[in-house]
Amino acid sequence: MKKYKIVLLSGDGIGPEISEVSKKVLKKLSKNHNLDIEIIEELFGGIAYEKYGTPAPDKTLDQCKKSDAVLLACVGDIKYDSLARELRPESGLLKLRSALNLFANIRPVKMRKSLLDASTLKKEIVEHVDLIVVRELIGGIYFGKPRGHITNTKIPKAFNTMVYDAAEIERITEIAIKIANQRNKKICSVDKSNVLEVSQLWRDTVLNITSKDKNISLSNMYVDNAAMQLIRDPGKFDVILTSNLFGDILSDLAAMLTGSIGMLPSASLNNDGPGVFEPVHGSAPDIAGKNIANPIAMLLSASMMLKIGLNEEEASENLETAIDKVLSKGFRTADLAYGSSEVLSCSEIGDKIMDEI
Ligand code: NAD
Repeated sequence: MKKYKIVLLSGDGIGPEISEVSKKVLKKLSKNHNLDIEIIEELFGGIAYEKYGTPAPDKTLDQCKKSDAVLLACVGDIKYDSLARELRPESGLLKLRSALNLFANIRPVKMRKSLLDASTLKKEIVEHVDLIVVRELIGGIYFGKPRGHITNTKIPKAFNTMVYDAAEIERITEIAIKIANQRNKKICSVDKSNVLEVSQLWRDTVLNITSKDKNISLSNMYVDNAAMQLIRDPGKFDVILTSNLFGDILSDLAAMLTGSIGMLPSASLNNDGPGVFEPVHGSAPDIAGKNIANPIAMLLSASMMLKIGLNEEEASENLETAIDKVLSKGFRTADLAYGSSEVLSCSEIGDKIMDEI
């Protein structure tokens, strides 16, 4: 029996509700596929701040480093918005990404046939959507220095720095090439090189690296045009390669193509240690504690964890098929409800998925 140690970070808001479903599902998958998956639960985000005064306690980070993979729900709440920046739950995310050197964020966006009606766009626009956003995660403007406030001026000023070196761009490009080679071999690199020097370096470096792989077809797009094309004709994208800030925005935009942010998983990876697998959505404080959240983005993240993080492809496919079956039978959580679909709670849809595993 293969043994794995995973760390589960339930975090804040709807986190504990969707984590409960994920735990049950992982236990059933372990049994059916003869796996020994030990689930270690640690505090992270606002809940960790409440207990330890920091959103990313050392104990949590140490356990994550020692694990085979980390499954994270979501963090954050409006009540922490007045804290110093480094104490806010979202800073915990940046700390975790840095601690594990997670430079690559992978976000697949695939239209599921059973959910065509849930998209706010026309069916014929979204039916062929099957793309992956590869976002650089620990560089660019979110981490660039100097940053800060200037207070000794008449009008208050603040500034950030968007900075990349060629090595950072090379390693994320190599990840995009690897993924593109498993798909249609098309990469669209998104930047703003008509205005930003850092984007010119991005464009030149991506071209330099991708030209070494003759199988890859590379195109470049400015980020404003990419936002427009993602709404106009999203089916034409395969792998979108982009920097931290642009990827953050474009991947949420892409999320909505499929109907709900409650459906989108992600993986944050490095070249050797454990990855972090987490839904794209936040802690949804508006619906927390009501048992109405959609647990599927977290389940699809667990599926990515099984496939990419633990190399357990069969268990991953079993879970994906179970999710598809439940959706095609018309069962939905409230965020996906449409027409004659039967609306279930978070735990109820979890149970339906368990029945299909
Ligand atoms: P959000 O993703 O939490 O919510 C946006 C909207 O989508 C809300 O209406 C919410 O109810 C809905 N939604 C989100 N997930 C859902 C799900 N699984 N099922 C059904 N509906 C769902 O974004 P927000 O409101 O901008 O942020 C709320 C908090 O989450 C903030 O504190 C923010 O900083 C934090 N946040 C955390 C992460 C993360 O943990 N990775 C990511 C984004 C935002």
